[in-house]
Amino acid sequence: MSLVDADGETAVGRGDGDGGGDGDGEIRSILDRAAEGGRISPEEALLLYTRAPLHALGKAADTVRRRRYPDGIATYIIDRNINYTNICVTACRFCAFYRAPKHAEGWVRDVDDIVAKCGEAVELEATQIMLQGGHNPDFGIEWYEQVFGAIKAAYPQLALHSLGASEVVHIARTSGLTFPEVITRLRDAGLDSFAGAGAEILTERPRHAIAPLKEPGHVWLSVMETAHTLGLESTATFMMGTGETNAERIGHLRMIRDVQDRTGGFRSFIPWTYQPENNHLGGRTQATTLEYLRLVAVARLFFDNIAHLQGSWLTTGKEVGQLTLHMGADDLGSVMLEENVVSSAGARHRTNRSELISLIRTAGRIPAQRDTLYRHLVVHRDPAQDPTDDRVASHFSSTALPLVSAT
Ligand code: SF4
Repeated sequence: MSLVDADGETAVGRGDGDGGGDGDGEIRSILDRAAEGGRISPEEALLLYTRAPLHALGKAADTVRRRRYPDGIATYIIDRNINYTNICVTACRFCAFYRAPKHAEGWVRDVDDIVAKCGEAVELEATQIMLQGGHNPDFGIEWYEQVFGAIKAAYPQLALHSLGASEVVHIARTSGLTFPEVITRLRDAGLDSFAGAGAEILTERPRHAIAPLKEPGHVWLSVMETAHTLGLESTATFMMGTGETNAERIGHLRMIRDVQDRTGGFRSFIPWTYQPENNHLGGRTQATTLEYLRLVAVARLFFDNIAHLQGSWLTTGKEVGQLTLHMGADDLGSVMLEENVVSSAGARHRTNRSELISLIRTAGRIPAQRDTLYRHLVVHRDPAQDPTDDRVASHFSSTALPLVSAT
């Protein structure tokens, strides 16, 4: 059976569960092996992604999830994304957040404001900060060292799960350092782990099409591999729906799994969908809800070496986020006290802690607040004991701290 058409594309979801079609026995055999914990090849993952009956695919993924997490717990985290500048020279076509240097709408946030935002996050029980920003040519390694040092001095209990391989590449360029030097200095300044930002899609053709000035996928991975060997773990993300083929989607998974085989440093895999507003790429999200759910399930089966799988409610909506818990996901990510980057491109879903707890509980799972290391901080077994602080909710921006104009 040919898995891939001449152009590398296949239709998704042809399998309807009736059986009797070409390759059904092969699909059942692969699903059984994967559900039992056996490794599947990229070609087999593509076959499952494009042809396996949805319910059988979800059931196999859920079987793997149950074996990994027999306690039935699904987690969430309270964190805040803090954007330190929107000035960026990388100009990704899918990005609605950045402004070019000298643009009238360019801004940088000063260190005191960033630390104040961390203080607000602590007040709202956040345990993690994700610093995200543009590739500002004025920011060398010293700027990041100063910010990390200030945050850790004020709030040592906060995990700095921030930046990504793209920022390492940018800092290396602006400061004339090697990747290991940048990573070591960020680590020594207080960075606890790298977020998986900047991965987008790692396979070469679609990556170059949406982010021609960003480092190639193999460089992103090599920086992550170096970080893992230097003691900084990370997550790995995937932005679906910018026009990539199904084979390229599975190629992204394969590239991550290959590195994970060598380092074990990816704590989780976090797929989400492209948001098409206010950017140069435009178009529409070329990943349907069904494709997203199938990708989540295939990721659980394919990544026999990555512990956690996060469903996205921010880009796909809360109901779809909840459904991912039946397709192999064990985590719904963050309440996101603040998020501006993906929201700028059209993601308008919002939630709060009570709602996330309810989504998890009504999916038949036990909700638990986790930390960056996926340790359970509070297990919400008794609804009568659920937290009630309604300030723990997501916002575009939860404060109106003044910005420092960069122009
Ligand atoms: S995604 Fe990041 S690197 Fe790309 S343009 Fe936006 S801010 Fe810059």
